Amino acid sequence: MAAVKACNILITGANRGLGLETVKQLTEDSWPKRRIFATCRDPDGPKSEALRELAKQHPSVITIIRLDADDPSSVKESAEKVGSLLGNSGLNLLVNNAGIVAKGTIQTSSPEDMKNTFNTNVIGPLLVIKEYLPYLQAAAKASGTPGMSCNKAAVINISTMGGSISKMPSLYEQFPVLPYCVSKAGLNMLTVLAAEELKADEILCMALHPGWVKTDMGGEKAPLEPKESVEGMLRVIGSLTEKHHGGFLDYTGETIPW
Ligand code: NDP
Repeated sequence: MAAVKACNILITGANRGLGLETVKQLTEDSWPKRRIFATCRDPDGPKSEALRELAKQHPSVITIIRLDADDPSSVKESAEKVGSLLGNSGLNLLVNNAGIVAKGTIQTSSPEDMKNTFNTNVIGPLLVIKEYLPYLQAAAKASGTPGMSCNKAAVINISTMGGSISKMPSLYEQFPVLPYCVSKAGLNMLTVLAAEELKADEILCMALHPGWVKTDMGGEKAPLEPKESVEGMLRVIGSLTEKHHGGFLDYTGETIPW
């Protein structure tokens, strides 16, 4: 059961994997007045069928919105659409979950892989935070409570242990995914600097590692099921306070060193 009590929530990459599981669990906990903006880059395509099915079962909770993290105009258009649906209440929780992986080492990584991972995993979240900032600010103001929490206004960047400069070297032989790790280290820096900028507005901002999970990205050998990872992440998200602002945790709540 999710401990998240945020009303208005937006998730990127919500059509499969961890994003879809997050929407599912947030829908199951039937928090009153909850509204989930489940965004994906191709709402009508075959890869979004499961999300469409879920939205059909919960039409008053889930709204599917097109958002391609690689396309600035799509991010902007999505924010205008969501803004018009939110009214004055603002956006309480923004989860930057969309991401891509590219394998490679110094010897084998192509400039294309570097650019693509950077586009989706760093520039995407930057644009999403930028375009949705007015709605997060509105939610922080509307809450009328001091301090920080995901129920008030928060940005959660789904990162990875692979983006930890201190942890990744010992994992590199097992996971030779240099473009991915470099981009996620970039996402981690984005998180820390966004936290610095958003502090004055009391918008919580942190990075979260889901564990190694059985999804299209994580593969079959991963030890964790999406259900367990997302249950853990939602428990962590629900328990965040200003103490965690600018921090990096995993799905169990353990701090990960940068
Ligand atoms: P999946 O590959 O299963 O799903 C990725 C999601 O991101 C899909 O919904 C995909 O949409 C979406 N996406 C990719 N590019 C874009 C884009 N340009 N715009 C919008 N959406 C996009 O991955 P996971 O669910 O496993 O991963 C979710 C997050 O968790 C990622 O950020 C990942 O880095 C992180 N993570 C995952 C781990 C794991 O073991 N699984 C471990 C550590 C971190 P589409 O269907 O259109 O491609």
